Amino acid sequence: MLRIKNLVKSYDGEQRRRSRAARAEPDRVYAVNDVSFDVADGELFTLLGPSGCGKTTTLRSIAGLERPDAGTIEVGGRVLFSGGEPGKGTAKLVNMPANERGLGMVFQSYAIWPHMTVFDNVAFPLQVRKRGTRPGKKELTDRVMRVLATMELADLAGRQATKLSGGQQQRLALARALVIEPPLLLLDEPLSNLDAKLRESLRYELKRLQRELGITSVYVTHDQTEALVLSSSIAVMRGGNVVQLGRPREIYENPNSRFVAEFIGTSNFIAGVVEAKDGSRYTIRTDDGPLVLDAAADVPTGSQVVVSIRPEAVEVSLSSRAGEVPNEWTGKVLTRAFLGEAVDHVVTVGQHEIRARGNPSVSIAPDTEVYLRFDPNKLALVPVA
Ligand code: ADP
Ligand code: MG
Repeated sequence: MLRIKNLVKSYDGEQRRRSRAARAEPDRVYAVNDVSFDVADGELFTLLGPSGCGKTTTLRSIAGLERPDAGTIEVGGRVLFSGGEPGKGTAKLVNMPANERGLGMVFQSYAIWPHMTVFDNVAFPLQVRKRGTRPGKKELTDRVMRVLATMELADLAGRQATKLSGGQQQRLALARALVIEPPLLLLDEPLSNLDAKLRESLRYELKRLQRELGITSVYVTHDQTEALVLSSSIAVMRGGNVVQLGRPREIYENPNSRFVAEFIGTSNFIAGVVEAKDGSRYTIRTDDGPLVLDAAADVPTGSQVVVSIRPEAVEVSLSSRAGEVPNEWTGKVLTRAFLGEAVDHVVTVGQHEIRARGNPSVSIAPDTEVYLRFDPNKLALVPVA
């Protein structure tokens, strides 16, 4: 549906623009540096990464609001942008204007029109169409009211847009993007201006809507939980590159680097060396004892690795099951914290402080000697970069 190939977008470096030498040899900032990905029909595809990694630039390039240096952007087989490949003889430049791309867009700031009613805000994108493609009055009203009903705003159609709550304003922005029935919806941090509670409820709302309407979407966020909840696929970005691409679960359970593991959730990292390998079963030697785990990756014996252990993969217990199950270590509880639906323990083991998250029925006081068990299926092997 959407195909991005070798997208590059750079800007003049700000700092050095002032000096003469810099003008001769400008220092480029590569906001997006050779990004490729495909989004299938009906998918909600998320670009996830820290601030400044190039998410917005990628999205604006798709929208036609930025002109990339190179690469191709296709939607449903239609070429929106093609800048040829640098160094390979430039193919003919295609750069379709934003308003001809017909894509839906929702941004962090709602950008609704304050002087208009809810109805008029949604009707506007249809009214400004060229004669011939503009729907008649009856059809226009039907379409606007249908979208407002989907967004649960029909009762507020006559209200001034500024008299809506933050959540309603963001639903209005979404309605306005959807009314043109775009083949592709682009969303740039649409929930990040809302308070935590509203954000969470709108998250599920968005997911439901996206499923119901089956609308192909590219969603930009720096919030890992949001990405995990909403997405069918996630591309994790860093410094203008996609560093990992996969289903949310794959990325969470098998991060391919320490950066991804840390970014996508809290994790414990334990350095070690591959001592033995039997098919997919690895034995890792660490300063605090051996760890056994299963990993699909092919890492040779003797390699330096980091084992990533999610807090929820750590069981804290007062009794030993050594000999029954692998990966039992002993340690001492440093702190515990009650979180409502879970209890966190931080347990000191040798050099490490290991974070565990578990059922609130197990809550163990600081200074207690405990057994820690790690499920071999839930440990991830992260190659050392
Ligand atoms: P994100 O949305 O992931 O936070 P952006 O795509 O907005 O990141 O920015 C990526 C990088 O490009 C950043 O280093 C940013 O400073 C730079 N950048 C973005 N827009 C411009 C611009 N108009 N001029 C110069 N640098 C820019
Ligand atoms: Mg951004």
